[in-house]
Amino acid sequence: MEKPIVILGGGFAGIEAAIKSKQYGYDVVVVSDRDYLFIYPVSIWIPVKKKNFNDVSIPLEKLAKKHGFELVIDQVKKIDHENNKVILGNSELEYSYLFIALGMSKITAPGQEHTHSICGHPEESITIRDILDKLVKQGKGNISVGFGGNPKDPTATAVRGGPAFELLFNISHYLKKKGIRKNFRLNFFAPMAEPGKRMGEKPLKKLGLFFEHYKVSTYVGKKIKRFEEDKVVFEDDSSIESDLTIFIPGGKGHPLFEESGLPVNAAGFIRINELTRVEGHPNIYAIGDAAAILGHPWAAKQGHIAEVMAKTAAFNVHQEISFKGKRKSYWEHLNIICMMDSGDGAAYIKRERSRETIIPLPIIGHWLKKGWGFYYKNSKLKRMPRIPGM
Ligand SMILES: Cc1cc2nc3c(=O)[nH]c(=O)nc-3n(C[C@H](O)[C@H](O)[C@H](O)COP(=O)(O)OP(=O)(O)OC[C@H]3O[C@@H](n4cnc5c(N)ncnc54)[C@H](O)[C@@H]3O)c2cc1C
Repeated sequence: MEKPIVILGGGFAGIEAAIKSKQYGYDVVVVSDRDYLFIYPVSIWIPVKKKNFNDVSIPLEKLAKKHGFELVIDQVKKIDHENNKVILGNSELEYSYLFIALGMSKITAPGQEHTHSICGHPEESITIRDILDKLVKQGKGNISVGFGGNPKDPTATAVRGGPAFELLFNISHYLKKKGIRKNFRLNFFAPMAEPGKRMGEKPLKKLGLFFEHYKVSTYVGKKIKRFEEDKVVFEDDSSIESDLTIFIPGGKGHPLFEESGLPVNAAGFIRINELTRVEGHPNIYAIGDAAAILGHPWAAKQGHIAEVMAKTAAFNVHQEISFKGKRKSYWEHLNIICMMDSGDGAAYIKRERSRETIIPLPIIGHWLKKGWGFYYKNSKLKRMPRIPGM
């Protein structure tokens, strides 16, 4: 092949696709507007000071050296699929195959500038840490954490609720350790009647026990009207006082997808088939949060699914180039797996199409999740061997 495989995005999906494609022996160029991979699942510990920003980041330059791919730090401006090229801020790149792994964007709510998200720009985790720090020094306050959906995403595969729960329980534990928990009011809010239901019925029931244990007041089933500097206002004009509001909006597709004329679903995510190939575009694949998970309304966009999609895409492209018949489907590997951390333990949650599991893991669960963070970073940097299937 004269032209390289170009991968847009240096997150979970993009880097896994780059590693696998290099292992198959291809020239690979990764484009990212950040010069580091952000390990979102363990970023929940930045606000409570269990991890610092660098612990949770992997410099892409180091990954590029270890795995031998070319790295371009630049912003993708347009995907010109008719001419097999992408337009970047400072240059253009031609490709033989294109993997789109640009993650997701978020919808906006009125007054959202008064909120902070643990699922947005990585730097926001530091802002949340600093505001929490100020409240700790003050010795009292109201903290509200919530999430919302995207009305245009009827299957809600892009709702990201887990980190909201994790952050709430971690903040409760953090304040308790400082001996000031009783001076704080912790609130959880979400517009849906049963937030967390995506994890399954059993985990949903257990969530209530978590709220009780960590003394969190809940405000669910009411639409959010707007955010104010020190308030969350609901549709019925009731409100909660809030010195720190952490809000994870519903997800939507990157505006670039529709602008570039790629097929997207109602929420703007790229439509792919089970091989992760973009509908109607034989040499373009979309992986990770950027892609619409079609036909599996119970599923969710997660990091391990992003990696499964990346491996599937790299394998299928390799098979096509090698004129081999066998193809793989990412659908076989769909599940929801979550180690829901609370600072002093965790609950292991697994949801498959027709089975749900929840195992409370006091203390050890927290260390298992920390161990995963260590493993993810060090195995990607080839400092330790990779466990098959992880
Ligand atoms: C707080 C939090 C906790 C989570 N916890 C878990 C968990 O416990 N388990 C789990 O499985 N999943 C978890 N997830 C979900 C998981 O992190 C995501 O599913 C995963 O990051 C998706 O990977 P991705 O590569 O598709 O997107 P991302 O990781 O978002 O990467 C997108 C990449 O695209 C780049 N990019 C975006 N726009 C442009 C542009 N215009 N030009 C160039 N580059 C661009 C970005 O810089 C980034 O490199 C969590 C997510 C969050 C936010």
